Amino acid sequence: MRFFSSSKPVQSTIIVGCGRLGANLANTLSNSDGNVTIIDKDERSFRKLSPSYGGLTYVGDATDISVLKAVGIEKADAVVSVTNFDNTNIMVAQIAREEYNIKNVVCRLYDPERECIYQEFGISTICPAVLSEKEISKLLSEKE
Ligand code: AMP
Repeated sequence: MRFFSSSKPVQSTIIVGCGRLGANLANTLSNSDGNVTIIDKDERSFRKLSPSYGGLTYVGDATDISVLKAVGIEKADAVVSVTNFDNTNIMVAQIAREEYNIKNVVCRLYDPERECIYQEFGISTICPAVLSEKEISKLLSEKE
């Protein structure tokens, strides 16, 4: 049995894509009192999870709505889509926002030009190229 001493409600998060980023995020969130479910279409990807990972795993293609339903998207507080395909991440994020009205939706986009478009739909976007560029510029300016 699990007891919750904090008045903070337990957050239920679905992560799509158990690559390097998804697996690290799942490890961190599952160790911080939240319910985490991670989906990947390739079962071998779950090897990246740490032995202490305390969440659930689900093998399936997240572009299939029945997979999202099977992991309980209707009750999720947050959805993070970090597969290696922008179109998949956008599709999952839009379903989460528009069909299930989930407020906390984050997706990774490799294409920087698409980033601002989806922010308008209430989807938070992470673009590795933009983040890296900012960080590199910062590091260079620190050495000047
Ligand atoms: P990475 O590029 O290391 O962040 O890994 C991305 C992960 O996303 C890989 O483990 C892929 O198997 C997974 N992936 C890609 N497309 C899908 C999809 N449609 N549904 C579920 N997982 C996916």
